[in-house]
Amino acid sequence: YWAKTAQSGLEQYHRAFSEQATYRGNLERSLQSMLARQELWVAYQPVMDLVTRQPVSCEALLRWEHPEYGSVSPDTFIPIAEERGLVQEIGLWVLRAACTDAAGWNRAGRALKVAVNVSAVQLRGAHFAEQVTDILNETGLPPALLELEVTETAVMANMAEATRQLLHLRSIGVSIALDDFGTGYASLELVRELPLNKLKLDRSFMTSAETESRSRLIMSIVIDLANALDLEVVAEGVETGEQHTMLLAWHCPFAQGYFYSRPLSHGAFLDFLNRQ
Ligand code: C2E
Ligand code: MG
Ligand code: MG
Ligand code: MG
Repeated sequence: YWAKTAQSGLEQYHRAFSEQATYRGNLERSLQSMLARQELWVAYQPVMDLVTRQPVSCEALLRWEHPEYGSVSPDTFIPIAEERGLVQEIGLWVLRAACTDAAGWNRAGRALKVAVNVSAVQLRGAHFAEQVTDILNETGLPPALLELEVTETAVMANMAEATRQLLHLRSIGVSIALDDFGTGYASLELVRELPLNKLKLDRSFMTSAETESRSRLIMSIVIDLANALDLEVVAEGVETGEQHTMLLAWHCPFAQGYFYSRPLSHGAFLDFLNRQ
């Protein structure tokens, strides 16, 4: 009996493992044609002013509608795209799409900043800032309405080149946000060294803030630090009214999360803006 159970456990493990490998293999193959097959789209999640409860900007979040697997998370496919040398092309696609949409809102009289996530591979390319400039010119989006979100890992992969690219982008008026702040090893060094406009406090702080007093203390001190350094600060992953109230008490200016809105399709996002 035990031998049989152990064996079936092992079989299950092998099956799960090989299914996982097949899944990844299939994703890798279909990644090559996702752009041509127009399977990508951009969702927008509003960033809210905590006091007025009005949207002040938004984040563009990439979505892949896979013909067989349905919606695949960017946390799954971006790393594969990076490995397979496809993230440059995908990154330019999402940047162009987001800038086109935001330029349209701007022409319609709604000047709303859009934030686009940047991968490590893009950031260490020597022509990244020029590519961004070209897309701004092409789409007619004023640079002041574009923000780029970089992570600590992406910057650390090539600190010198990343700093050079970010300085160039700042000089043309694009804003820079440090995403998932507080999860890395060199967060404070980066705050000192990089030309940043904004810190985005990682969702994990918000998750633990309700139960852990140390998380609350760290969060309130990081918000004070950002305010003192004249950096904008956004709390990510706000899901409850209690979290919203805590952030207000800490003088956190901005927040983003399911409590205000999930990431929305372009049409639904415009409806959201019109309801405010
Ligand atoms: P991120 O940039 O930190 O984006 C925030 C993630 O948190 C998004 O997940 C968003 O849907 C989710 N989120 C927002 N509010 C809440 C909340 O209240 N609760 C919870 N549980 N989650 C919330 P998503 O869209 O799955 O994206 C995951 C990550 O994939 C992003 O993390 C970003 O690192 C990456 N990513 C997304 N779009 C792009 C892109 O266009 N290019 C690159 N290079 N990476 C992207
Ligand atoms: Mg982000
Ligand atoms: Mg984040
Ligand atoms: Mg993240």
